Amino acid sequence: MATLKLEDLHRVTPLGSGGFGRVILVQDKNNSSDTYALKILNKQRIVAIGYQERVLNEKTIMAELKSDFIVRLYQTFKDDEYLYLLMEPCLGGELSTLIYEVDNLNHTAAKFYTACITEALIFMHSKGIVHTDLTTSNALLDSKGYVKLIDFGMASKVRPGQETTTFGGTPDYMAPEIILNKGHNTAADLWSLGVIVYYMLAGWAPFEDKDENDIQTYHNVLKGIDAVVFPDDMENIAEDLIRKLCRDDPAKRLSAQEIPAHGWFNDFHWEELRNRTMKPPFIPKITSPVDTRNFDVEDFSEEAKHSSTYDVSSWDPDF
Ligand code: ADP
Repeated sequence: MATLKLEDLHRVTPLGSGGFGRVILVQDKNNSSDTYALKILNKQRIVAIGYQERVLNEKTIMAELKSDFIVRLYQTFKDDEYLYLLMEPCLGGELSTLIYEVDNLNHTAAKFYTACITEALIFMHSKGIVHTDLTTSNALLDSKGYVKLIDFGMASKVRPGQETTTFGGTPDYMAPEIILNKGHNTAADLWSLGVIVYYMLAGWAPFEDKDENDIQTYHNVLKGIDAVVFPDDMENIAEDLIRKLCRDDPAKRLSAQEIPAHGWFNDFHWEELRNRTMKPPFIPKITSPVDTRNFDVEDFSEEAKHSSTYDVSSWDPDF
């Protein structure tokens, strides 16, 4: 890919918003079939809550992660007001949207998406990288229907036997050791994967609170997987996998590398997934490189009006 400049990019439409800014679909002005997802981070907002380190981390970690199951970071840019991450676009939408639309997934579909996320985790964890915010909103469908992970804003690198204390994540998916701030490692992502498998098969998250009260959700997580009711129609072997991923003791959880050998995957052809010849359960409706129908596009004009102050503290020479 040729090196691009910010001026080469035409802003097509917003794809999503996050803590510090937004993600926009952009098009190369010199080659309109080349589109990208541009994550734009407001420097002043980052400084205001002291997240400089995390943002620099997001860039370094993404640059290291070259996998078919993780969104690729191509380039970064910066100006006085913003930092920019130029990424591979995934126009099939969030896995959470798909689950919401179909209510709950059949075992074949759930197995396919679990396997995509497992492949991403095997690769990341082999490099000592913990995602920490693994959710169905941070798993996007590409145009073929395969899932790729996004959002490494909470990720960190841990050495074998060590732990990180980065606090954060999404309550429904958060491992107990993160809630208790005990320090966590790659096993925290396996807990979140267990939550995702349950959510895909049941249609609701195992620890969710019906009133969406985060404190109550934390209580539910701390009660553990044994206090969770499993739907009658969930296969025992899928339930077994979830229980082994959501063990209270992080050291006793299955590792990403052990998942392919679990009984739920007996009839699953990992090689076909890895060389991307397996037929995905849903093929996203996308008719052009600028078709964003799978995203709930919001209007960001209000936000743009309010963000006009510059941060000039020069903490970002490495970005
Ligand atoms: P934040 O770290 O601020 O939460 P994310 O990286 O999660 O930001 O991005 C916010 C939203 O933008 C995502 O939930 C997703 O809908 C959309 N998005 C992010 N990256 C991409 C991408 N590569 N392709 C398509 N949409 C994306």
